[in-house]
Amino acid sequence: MLRISQIKRNAEKGEQGLKHAAAKELRIREEEIQNLRICKRSLDARKKPELYYVYTVDVEVNDEEKILRRCKSNKVTRAKEVIYAPEQSGTIPFKHRPVVIGMGPAGLFCALSLARTGFAPILLERGMDVDRRQEMVETFWQTGQLDERSNIQFGEGGAGTFSDGKLNTAVKDATGRNTFVLKTFVEFGAPEEILWLNKPHIGTDLLREVIKNIRKEILRLGGDVRFEAQVTDFEIQKGQLRALIINGAERLECEAAVLAIGHSARDTFALLKKRQFSMSPKAFAVGVRMEHPQHLIDQSQYGKERGTLPAADYKLTCQLPNGRGVYSFCMCPGGYVVNASSEEGKLAVNGMSYHSRNGDNANSAIVVTVTPEDFPGDDVLAGVEFQRKLEAAAYEAGDGKIPVQLYHDFCKKQVSESLGETTPSMKGAWTFGNVRDCFPKEIGDSIEQSIKVFGRKIRGFDRGDAILSAVESRTSSPVRIEREKETLESSISGIYPCGEGAGYAGGITSAAMDGLKVAEAILKKFKIK
Ligand code: FAD
Repeated sequence: MLRISQIKRNAEKGEQGLKHAAAKELRIREEEIQNLRICKRSLDARKKPELYYVYTVDVEVNDEEKILRRCKSNKVTRAKEVIYAPEQSGTIPFKHRPVVIGMGPAGLFCALSLARTGFAPILLERGMDVDRRQEMVETFWQTGQLDERSNIQFGEGGAGTFSDGKLNTAVKDATGRNTFVLKTFVEFGAPEEILWLNKPHIGTDLLREVIKNIRKEILRLGGDVRFEAQVTDFEIQKGQLRALIINGAERLECEAAVLAIGHSARDTFALLKKRQFSMSPKAFAVGVRMEHPQHLIDQSQYGKERGTLPAADYKLTCQLPNGRGVYSFCMCPGGYVVNASSEEGKLAVNGMSYHSRNGDNANSAIVVTVTPEDFPGDDVLAGVEFQRKLEAAAYEAGDGKIPVQLYHDFCKKQVSESLGETTPSMKGAWTFGNVRDCFPKEIGDSIEQSIKVFGRKIRGFDRGDAILSAVESRTSSPVRIEREKETLESSISGIYPCGEGAGYAGGITSAAMDGLKVAEAILKKFKIK
C-alpha cells in the first residue's frame, strides 16, 4: 500500500477527480490504481474564498517498488499503520469478575476490551439506559424537573451522550488506540467518514445508537450491565479492595474495579476523600456559552456563504495581561446550548448538536483557566465547591432557567431586555438574567476582554447582540485521582482510576483511549480463573 499526502482539491468539487490526481502523483494511469482509501481530509482556507480540501490517501497498486522509485515525490511513502494489539500477560487468576464503574466512553471501552478478552466484566452505572435517560432529559428540558440520578451527566453513554460528539483529540496515537477507538465507533454504527475527517464528529443522534450497540456486544460476550446501580462505598482491607457497596445495600466482592466515574460524580469524589484515596486538586476552566448566527462564522472562516460545505467551526485562544488564559471550548457548529445540570438548585450549560449540524447558531464555551489558587484552602474538593458556587449563582440569576445576557449588556453589567438578530438555540427554558454577576470580578472581566480580542480574529465575534449564557463549569475534572504510573492502580490496590473524572482524559476519544489503557493494565496483572 502506498500513501500519498497533500493532494489538494477544490473543496466544492470534493472527491471528484481524486483518483485521477492520485494517479498523476504516482505517474501511472488511473486504471492502475486497484483501490483508493481516504486516510485524512482537512480544509485549507488560507486563500478564502477559494477553499481546498487537502487529502491523504492510501492506494493499492501493483509493483509498489517500481512506482516509488519512479515517482520520487516526497508526498509518496509506504503506508504504515500501527495495529492496536493489547498484550495479555497477567498471571494472577481472577477470583471474581472485574467491575467497571461508569458507562461513559472510558468505562464502555474498558469493558468492551475486557469482554473481548474473555473477562466478562460487570458494568455498574448509576443512571439509566440511554433510551429511558433520553426521555428523562427531554422531560427536564421541557418542565425543569431534574432527576439527580439520571440526567445529562449521568446514565448510559456518560456525559458526552447529549453532545456534539466531537471525536478529535490532541493525544498522540503511538499505540494505535485512537484509530482503534474510531474504528470501533464505526463498527458499532458511526459513519465511516470519522476515520478520515480531520475533525470528526458523530452528533448526539447517531452517538446514542452506537452506545447501545456497544452495550449489546458486551452482553453478547458474557458481560453484565446494571443500570441504577450506584457505587456508594468501598470495602478495603489492608490497602486492597475487597468489595463494592451498591446503592448502600448490596455487597459485590471483587479484586479489581475500574473507576470511570466522570467529572460530575461529586458525591463519589467525596466518598473517595472519606476513604482516603490519594487525590489532588487540578486546574480547570469556567466561563460562559456564547452563541452567534452560524452564517457569521461561515462568512468569517470561508469568506463566503457555506453552500454545500459543513457548518464552519473555530478555535480561539488568548493570554490576557492579567495572566489568565481564555479559550473557546467544545465548539458546536449549528448546535444547541443545553441545560446540563445534575444537581438541584444548580445550573450548568454545555453544547450539543445533531449529526447534520444544521441549527441556526454556532455556540462554544468561552472559558477562563482557574487554578487551585482561585479556590484556596486545604480541601482537595475545593474546586468542586467553587463550581457549585458558580452553578448556584447561575440558577439564581435565571430563577432556575438558563440565564441569558447579550454581550453589550454583559459589558455594561445590566440585564438584557430584548434580543438582537440572534435568538437562543437552547434545550431547556431560558430567561434574561445577569450572567456577569455569576462570576468573581476577575473572571467576568477576563471574559469581557477576551471576547474583544476574539473579535479581532473573527469579525463580528464581539457584536453586542451575541448571546451569553451561564455557567460553563464542567469543562474538566477539578481533581485528579492519583494512580501508579506502571500498574495504573490508585493508592488502594485493585482500584483503577480512569478517564476524565480521574483527570486522565479530556473528551470522548481520549476518555475511551484511557479506558483501553486501563484494560491493558488489568490484562497485564490478571488472568481468567
Ligand atoms: P463520563 O462520560 O462522565 O461517564 C461517567 C459515568 O459514570 C456516568 O455515566 C456516571 O453516571 C457514572 N457514575 C458516576 N459515579 C458513579 C457511581 N458512583 N456508580 C456508578 N456509576 C457512576 N467531549 C468531546 O470529546 N466531544 C464533545 O463534543 C463533547 N461534548 C460534550 C457535551 C456535553 C453536554 C457534555 C456534558 C460533555 C461533552 N464532552 C464532549 C465531554 C465528554 O462527554 C467527556 O469528556 C467524556 O464523557 C468523559 O468520559 P468518561 O467516561 O471519563 O466520563
